[in-house]
Amino acid sequence: MVPLGSFKAKYCNSCNVMKPERCHHCSACDRCILKMDHHCPWINRCVGWRNYKLFYLFILYATLFCFFIIASVIPPLVSRAKVITPP
Ligand SMILES: [Zn+2]
Ligand SMILES: [Zn+2]
Repeated sequence: MVPLGSFKAKYCNSCNVMKPERCHHCSACDRCILKMDHHCPWINRCVGWRNYKLFYLFILYATLFCFFIIASVIPPLVSRAKVITPP
């Protein structure tokens, strides 16, 4: 438990509000983001407390999709390589 008086609130000059700990102002979104991880250009918004799980799932499914593409491209390439190479 955090004792009273140890809370260090900071002031955001852009939003004109007091911001809690682990809150950062994103210059791209022009707003304060709680537990900000980074501003992601792929989803065009910040990854923070509200969408961290969704971003994690997005990365997981994108990785699985890459593995699926690789797995579906390799067998036709191998079969074509067998046809092209002379016996
Ligand atoms: Zn701000
Ligand atoms: Zn942002």
